[in-house]
Parts: sequence; structure tokens; C-alpha cells
Amino acid sequence: MKLHSDHYEFPGGIDPLTLTEKYGSPLYVYEGETIERQYRRLAGAFSVPRLRIHYACKALTNISVLRFIRRLGAGLDTVSIQEVHLGLRAGFKPEEILYTPNCVSMEEIGMAVELGVHINIDNLSILEVFGHEYPNVPVCIRINPHIMAGGHTKTSVGHIDSKFGISIHQLPHLLKIVEATGQVVEGMHMHTGSDILDADIFLNAAEILLATAMNFSELRYIDFGRGCKVPYVEGVISPDIEELGARLSSRFNAFCQEYGRDLDLLFEPGKFLVSEAGHFLVKTNVIKTTPSTLFAGIDSGLNHLIRPMFYDAHHEILNVSRPLGKPRIYTVVGYICETDTFGSNRKIAEIQEGDVLCLKNAGAYCFSMSSNYNSRYRPAEVFLYQGKDHLIRQRETLEDLLRNQIEITSF
Ligand SMILES: *Cc1c(COP(=O)(O)O)cnc(C)c1O
Repeated sequence: MKLHSDHYEFPGGIDPLTLTEKYGSPLYVYEGETIERQYRRLAGAFSVPRLRIHYACKALTNISVLRFIRRLGAGLDTVSIQEVHLGLRAGFKPEEILYTPNCVSMEEIGMAVELGVHINIDNLSILEVFGHEYPNVPVCIRINPHIMAGGHTKTSVGHIDSKFGISIHQLPHLLKIVEATGQVVEGMHMHTGSDILDADIFLNAAEILLATAMNFSELRYIDFGRGCKVPYVEGVISPDIEELGARLSSRFNAFCQEYGRDLDLLFEPGKFLVSEAGHFLVKTNVIKTTPSTLFAGIDSGLNHLIRPMFYDAHHEILNVSRPLGKPRIYTVVGYICETDTFGSNRKIAEIQEGDVLCLKNAGAYCFSMSSNYNSRYRPAEVFLYQGKDHLIRQRETLEDLLRNQIEITSF
């Protein structure tokens, strides 16, 4: 969405205010062109014989978004059996899907085996049981390289205290299990969280992964996990995916030479592909002044977009109705009966009650983390592509809130 003299426009000249009139508020809007651009940028950053980009779909799982991303040529990274089902429903082939669960039951892993998707295992005890039950099903191993990435502790998953992956210090035990069960290890995986801003730190983790990979002779792919952090704050430089791509490609090609075979290089971006494509349009219900603060209260809350409250995430906020107004300092809050602050002390063009605001970077982990808290409906989702708007999810209704409830009428 860009400012055109006195109003905002989505690609194809679509006016955000027309969308909120047509579909109501609050409203999630995704730009297909931005997803396409990010995909091409990532794909173009690598020069290796076989690159596969797996979309980490927990970021945004709308079935139409999955179909759109499949058409771009991506595979899928899934973390639950339900995401596997959604991926298959969207048309991904089982062999294009990697299932990377953490702390799930053996029963669920069995279902994924039945569906024919690739299995990523991140725990020695599961590996052992799996090897006995399915000695002929190849597995991918998720290692934990113990790299502490910056960013928030809730999104940093590769450090020593993390619950994810098999510790590299457990390699001797891992090798014993693989030898005893005779299972084929087809992939090596790590996911360090996407908050590593520094290519050097990432490449150090990659060295650990590649060194571990040398212990397995039947590999077909190496999965470097993560996406790439996206700049949520205006002015913070986006990490240089091109530099990372060039350095990792040359290191990976050298590794393949040494290994004796070309392997697939996998990447699993979630937010890199969809974050910037998403916009959350909300309406201002009230302007409220207290002795200390000028509040704008909107028709949404942590039930629809929890990242600011959960991760201290920053989402830029714009006044779409009156972009050229004199800037004032607002604290933008939701309507939930908890403190749900979207942004404190933000400079925003003067807001009047009824104005539509836009929270930017709302494509990843926004709708997918939404809930019905306070018995509110989840918003509608609209997908824009080539100048057309497509409703891809209806706003919920009271029926949706009651759907699985059993009403005992004699009470
Ligand atoms: C969440 C996740 C990703 C994607 O993370 P982003 O930060 O959205 O890029 C990739 N791989 C795995 C295993 C994940 O759990």
C-alpha cells in the first residue's frame, strides 16, 4: 500500500477505503504481488543447482494463500498434521511437504507417514521409536546448533535452552540409534529463528549443520530453516538476503563437491514471504484523552493481532482516511478487556472517530494467531491480485461461535 498524493492505494490502484466499505472492518488484506516479489527475491538470491523454497505455512494458512504460493513453485513446511492436511488440500504433493513437529505424539507422526510427506524428527527418543516402527521410511533430522540469535526469546529457537532439535552434543548417540535401527537419514535440518540479523552468525550455524551432515552418507537435502527477518520498523535496514544467498551458495556448492553429490538446498521462510504483503485495516471507535495520553481506540484487539502484546512486535500504524493530517502522538489500543496496546506514543496523522487505520506488516502470525477472545468474530480476509479483490475468508458470525458448543437446554 502506497501513498498517492493524498490517499493510499494498494497495487492495481485499489483504494483501502473501498475495501472496508465493501467487506467491513476490521479486515485483513494481502497483496499477491508482494508475495510474488518476495518469493522471486529469495529464489534469485541463491545460485545452487537445486534450490527448494518451502513456505512455512504457520505464518498464514488461508487455503487460497497456500494455493497462490504453490503456484509460485514453493513446497511447504508444516508443523502439525492439520497443516499437512491443508497443504494437501491446496494441491501440494506429499513429496513437496516437510512435516516438522515438536513434542507431538507418535500417533500423529504415524499419520504423517501414512500421508507420504517427509518427516523431520527433533528428538532422540522419537527417532528411536520411529526407526523401529518405520525402518524403511527415510527421515530428516533437526539438529540444534546452539546458536543464540538476537531478537525475542519467544522466537529464538536455536539456543542451548531451547526445546527444539537434537543437540549437536548428542551426535554420538544419534549415530548409534541410526546404526541400530538401520534407518535412512535423507535430510539435515536446523531452524534458528528468523531474528538472526547477521549473515556471519547464520553462516556459523550453517557450518555446524554441514559438519554434522558429513556423518550421513545418504542425504538428499539440507534444510537451513528460517526465513529472514523483515523490517517492521521504518528505517531499520532489511537484512541483505542477497549477500547471505551468495555466501551460503558458494559454501554449499563447495560442500556438495566434498560430499560427492549435489544435494537440494532448502529454505523455509514464513514471514519473509507474507509479512509485508499483509495489511490490517481497522476503524477508530473512540478518541480518548486522559491526563497523560491521547488514545485512539479501534474495533479490534489482541484477539485479532496479538504480536505487539505477545512479542513486543512493532507494527507501523497509518491513518488511511486522512493521511495528510497534522501528526499527533497517539497510543493505539484495542477493545478487549485487557491492556491491548498496538502502539504507544506513535506519530500518526490526526485521527477522528470513524477513521480507518492500517497496521502494516500484518501478513505473518497475525490472522493465524487470532482467536475469539471476548466472543468477538474473527475478521474477513481479502486477497488482492492483478487489480482484483477476492474475498478469501468471510467474517465470522454468531453461528461460528456456537458451532461446536452443546447447549443443554434443560439448564
Ligand atoms: C516457523 C518456522 C519457520 C518460519 O519462520 P519465519 O520466522 O516465519 O520465517 C521455518 N521453519 C520452521 C521449522 C518453523 O517452525
